[in-house]
Amino acid sequence: MVLENVPKAIGFVYALVMIGVLAYLWYSGRWRRSIGWLLLFVSAALGFLIFAPVIPYQFQQLMLGDVQGLGAPLIVGAAGLTVVFFLTIVFGRFICGYLCPVGAVQEIAYHIPVRKTSPRYKNAFMAVRALVFVVFLIMAFVLSASLLSDFGIRDFFYLTLTTGSFVFFMVLLLSMTWYRPFCRLVCPYGVLLSLGAAKSLFRIQRTDACIECRKCEKACPTDEAKREDAKAECYLCRRCIDVCPKEGALVYAKNRPISPHQEK
Ligand code: SF4
Ligand code: SF4
Repeated sequence: MVLENVPKAIGFVYALVMIGVLAYLWYSGRWRRSIGWLLLFVSAALGFLIFAPVIPYQFQQLMLGDVQGLGAPLIVGAAGLTVVFFLTIVFGRFICGYLCPVGAVQEIAYHIPVRKTSPRYKNAFMAVRALVFVVFLIMAFVLSASLLSDFGIRDFFYLTLTTGSFVFFMVLLLSMTWYRPFCRLVCPYGVLLSLGAAKSLFRIQRTDACIECRKCEKACPTDEAKREDAKAECYLCRRCIDVCPKEGALVYAKNRPISPHQEK
């Protein structure tokens, strides 16, 4: 199904442009839920059609020095991934929320109406992912081996029946009940993006209109909706905003320091 003659750079350009578009729509208040759905399905379709922008896989091929797998010269791939990282520092993880096909298929799966579970072990999950990141680097630089192949990302989007694609299919099944297991436990590029998002210039914040009902905290699948949370694991899914009963209590805006009297 993947069209090998279509340049993967198209996926990168799509991602870079849409990060800017998303940030504008969120900041200006012109965002609509239908736009989010459209982007999720377009991003997932791009994964199956051109296997881009499958950012974690392309990050891995960059580490392996695999120009063919990356679908671009190494310098171009490195530049593209660096720009995505810096856009995340400015605008947050729109790439993960709506544009990476791996994230998109998990997000779509989580919308399937089955019972959800949201264990609040954010730091433990991030520690696991950091450990996986170390294994990823050792495999890439010492063994010249591909960790993500074991998770079947490529085989899944290429519609190839292998043990790997079965593993990713199981990850997708888990995504129906537990939010983004691959992103939160495995993704090596997600480690870097979470560092960027924790310092992001624009992010979801509470305003003085907040009535401290904490509905947003209960709705957040990654435990990032408290005032003091760094937003490293905020995928900009908007569940917090959607459940908030006070108009304007949660806004996507420039980061501002939390004054002591606001801390709870
Ligand atoms: S965490 Fe990784 S896999 Fe998940 S959406 Fe972000 S880049 Fe894609
Ligand atoms: S619910 Fe809100 S804070 Fe939590 S991940 Fe989604 S957008 Fe981010």
